[in-house]
Amino acid sequence: MKAMVLYGPKDIRYEEVDKPVCGDNDVLLQIKAIGLCGSDIRTITYGHYKVKYPQIIGHEITGQVAETGKNVKKFKAGDRLYVSPVVPCHECKACRLGYEELCENLTVIGTEIQGDYAEYMLLEEKVLKNGVVLSIPDELEYEQAVITEPLSSVYACQENCSITLGDTVAIIGMGPIGCLHTALAKIRGAKAVIAIEQSEERLNKSKEFGADYLINSSKEDPVAKVREITGGWGAEKVISACPSTDAQNQAISMACKKGTVIFFGGVPKGKLTNIDTNIIHYNTLTLIGHYGYSNLQARKAFSLITSGRLDAKKFVTHVLPLKEIEKAVELTRSGEAIKVVLKP
Ligand SMILES: [Zn+2]
Ligand SMILES: [Zn+2]
Repeated sequence: MKAMVLYGPKDIRYEEVDKPVCGDNDVLLQIKAIGLCGSDIRTITYGHYKVKYPQIIGHEITGQVAETGKNVKKFKAGDRLYVSPVVPCHECKACRLGYEELCENLTVIGTEIQGDYAEYMLLEEKVLKNGVVLSIPDELEYEQAVITEPLSSVYACQENCSITLGDTVAIIGMGPIGCLHTALAKIRGAKAVIAIEQSEERLNKSKEFGADYLINSSKEDPVAKVREITGGWGAEKVISACPSTDAQNQAISMACKKGTVIFFGGVPKGKLTNIDTNIIHYNTLTLIGHYGYSNLQARKAFSLITSGRLDAKKFVTHVLPLKEIEKAVELTRSGEAIKVVLKP
């Protein structure tokens, strides 16, 4: 089969590899649509500490069952599936406490095991048993179902920090994640979403997802602007969804009294954020980190898409063949694309 194989940072090759062999307890999936994730771009460019080369990466997965092992009863050839890439062990302390996303033995498809940048991928017993594998309804296209992965994390974040009726939500970073946050915050009843971004192109696109106010942070001071929009009060929820320590600092300064600040995006390794903790102290802010999602939250995100409540089609701006990954990365980096979907 053809696959996109990562040999090291900035060394990715489209080549012929052996097709996985379907064991008695496995499902062989023919990949149909792959989401290009910002974290894939990071891994392609800088590598990833958990990846052992050569590695077929890719973790936003949809496909059709090509073959099933003789002991597999739940799936049959032809089934259309969405596969969540995070597989908790259900045995460690974090799992037992219900924090599956923080599992101490978490298996991530595309990092520790083969991902979906290929024509075929094996769903091993562990994935079928401990992970989330969902049947895509006939009327939903693979390209849309694949949005479930980034939405799962966004869904989990907003559920964990309780974005609710009447909130003003400020979101820093209007990449695909920021746009998903915008759309979801409106569904959850936010009174207003303030989109903050340095790229004019991305900022304008965020309007399509429901952003009520746009702030170009390369031209104006986002903190002063958020205060102005909210009559001096600040935002109830502030989400930093970009890899910037400045954004984290600004986020704290634009929250209202008793507001919640969420660090959704990681920052480059070793970069430290210099925070005036008095702002947190005197305003009684809640500062929370966010990473990943539980199995249940992945299922809930999927149902938001299958029900049509969140229009996944709007997020997919480009569909390209897998072998054109360089073009896909460029379209994403430049901000021209919101989400690029690849097809093997
Ligand atoms: Zn992703
Ligand atoms: Zn675990």
